[in-house]
Amino acid sequence: MEEAICAIATPYGVGAISIIRTSGFKSIENVNKIFKGKNLLKAESHTISYGHIVDDGNIIDEVMVSIFRAPKSFTTEESVEISCHGGIFSTNKVLEALLKNGFRLALPGEFTKRAFLNKRIDLTQAEAVMDIISSNNNIALKSANNSLRKSTTILIETLREKLLTLIASIEVNIDYPEYDDAITMTNEIVIPNLKQLIAEMNIILEHSQISKIAIHGIKTAIIGRPNVGKSSILNILLDEEKAIVSSIAGTTRDTIEAELSLGGVTLKLIDTAGIRETTDEVEQIGISRSKKAISEAELVLLVLDNSEELTLMDKELLEITKNKKRIIIVNKQDLNKKINLDMDYIKLSVKDKNGLHDLEKKLIEITKINEFNLDDQNYLSNTRHIAKMNEALNSLNIALKACKNNELIDMIEIDIKNAWQALGEIIGDTAPDLLINELFSKFCLGK
Ligand code: GDP
Repeated sequence: MEEAICAIATPYGVGAISIIRTSGFKSIENVNKIFKGKNLLKAESHTISYGHIVDDGNIIDEVMVSIFRAPKSFTTEESVEISCHGGIFSTNKVLEALLKNGFRLALPGEFTKRAFLNKRIDLTQAEAVMDIISSNNNIALKSANNSLRKSTTILIETLREKLLTLIASIEVNIDYPEYDDAITMTNEIVIPNLKQLIAEMNIILEHSQISKIAIHGIKTAIIGRPNVGKSSILNILLDEEKAIVSSIAGTTRDTIEAELSLGGVTLKLIDTAGIRETTDEVEQIGISRSKKAISEAELVLLVLDNSEELTLMDKELLEITKNKKRIIIVNKQDLNKKINLDMDYIKLSVKDKNGLHDLEKKLIEITKINEFNLDDQNYLSNTRHIAKMNEALNSLNIALKACKNNELIDMIEIDIKNAWQALGEIIGDTAPDLLINELFSKFCLGK
């Protein structure tokens, strides 16, 4: 049995009620010592009792006490929840009384960590609890709820079972070779299975990319040399005068962070400073920040000016963004065309408010947001999970390459086991203690 812990589970401040949560060894007996009302030792699980919390014979608060007997509680340990009047002072007094009677203060996330360690939930479900708390749109909330109902676990376990079957068949063949040589086995068993698994994981990752954008938005940088109309575009998108618009080149000197929704896609604008070679010191800072923004951005909106020929700077920007997800916008379509550009672009005129619809359509096309289907559940939405899946995929690609080079099957098996291990870290099966501790420390107190 684990030590008895307690914590205030509701936000710090005055409210209608505050809830203090307890869990662990002798929780019910300990609370009973300071409870005046029904004998809690005789209370059935999942019942609520009315009474008072007393300390040194003095009544501190009028409360309702909920009893959860092991293993039917969130942590699987015996657990008591005390609903107090929502005063800061009175709630703290109840907490103090608990601390004097066998409880210690819980660490952040300790209740959920216990639920995980006691195998009531796996790591993806614990993370889903956090994702529910931090969700700020319907898609994020539904996705977190899917994960809480084990959608991620099932996805990962299915892949791991297939990997395990493959590992087992390799081991059997190493021990009792039914094939004449190892090369036949790799060709007939390992290579087709690896190819199948790699294809499945690639599909999951592709869906994950789309779901990540649907849930968290896409980090976007609007770039272009001064005076092409970046601030004007930003303003028209934001529909408010947040950025400074001026005809003097290079006035957009600082980072403007904003979030806007276009065609159902949330654009998280990470930097809007202009890019140009200049001697002005302040602008130099803006320029280096813009270059940094390009490297941080998942999507680049590169703005060019229809009424001018391409400058060296435009060409440089086209070059450094060529491998990025990008949309080229040629602004000022209301002016005579001087630009000569031999690639796909969106025609825009902020002045005439023309072309915004095309930009929206392009954004939907490039993010594939319309392909996102919450019910398909063949995706990961948590960044840590996606990183681990990439790691597993990488190991399988190494294994496949090794097969094709006729390398030793024992060596190939190591990479396949690495993939199995990386996937295990997603659900917590093979996760190191350090990772577990770090994950739970990010939870709130009382969670
Ligand atoms: P930035 O330096 O790239 O942020 O450019 P601004 O947004 O400050 O715009 C520079 C100048 O171009 C301003 O005088 C704007 O009014 C003007 N401008 C922006 N978009 C258009 C457009 O579509 N047509 C015309 N004719 N002028 C524009």
